[in-house]
Amino acid sequence: MKKLMAANWKMYKLQGEAATTAADLAARLAGKLPADREVLLIPPYTALCGVAGVIAQAAGFALGAQNFYPSKQGAFTGEIAPEMLTDAGCRYALAGHSERRHILGEDDAMVGRKVAFGLTSGLSMILCVGEKVEERQAGELEAVLERQLTAGLAEVPDDVAPEALAVAYEPVWAIGTGLTAGPEEVAGAHAAVRGFLVRRFGVVGEKIRILYGGSVKPGNAGQILGIDNVDGVLVGGASLDAESFAAIVTA
Ligand code: PEP
Repeated sequence: MKKLMAANWKMYKLQGEAATTAADLAARLAGKLPADREVLLIPPYTALCGVAGVIAQAAGFALGAQNFYPSKQGAFTGEIAPEMLTDAGCRYALAGHSERRHILGEDDAMVGRKVAFGLTSGLSMILCVGEKVEERQAGELEAVLERQLTAGLAEVPDDVAPEALAVAYEPVWAIGTGLTAGPEEVAGAHAAVRGFLVRRFGVVGEKIRILYGGSVKPGNAGQILGIDNVDGVLVGGASLDAESFAAIVTA
């Protein structure tokens, strides 16, 4: 399976800015996107349709959403349904990003509902997991990952298609801080995630992609992508600029 190179634009970029960045990126990568890489753009909701139009002809590009509410439709003011996202051109969605867990108060059970509902709605789901700095210091890394993965994947069928599910390991202390987990920290956490996936899904678990996220930049992307069990990256800050993200995608 191709390495997934995901750009999480969070709550940045107006419609025009998002379309311009997407077009700039597509132009920079035209004919240069490595055959083993897939680019995933995850803009804010208001920019989804515009970016979908821009990347429609860009080979190897896909669109994703940052979040949704796990229901087909209904009286959920301010929320968005998976079907609305697929209608806007999304193939992927995130669930359980650390900013949703720790700023918006999303718990493990809600994250699990989102992963399962997104899959049944036809989205490929990226489950984000990762420990806070105090949890790492207390030696709780594996326990935190086990808890988040158990809950996040609780309702996922055993025979899930491996391309429909990915896990993003994102240590909370490395997101947007400029701190990156070192190669041994990344390797250890990804090995723990892989072990869980194989126990949970058998051979399918060997194929499910595990992304790393946390202050990935052009200067460290190549090293991170070379670590065992790193099947892509989820990039925030350094994905906002087309030149910087193009350099990461081709690292
Ligand atoms: C993220 O948003 O998932 C992320 C990893 O952000 P940053 O690359 O800015 O640390």
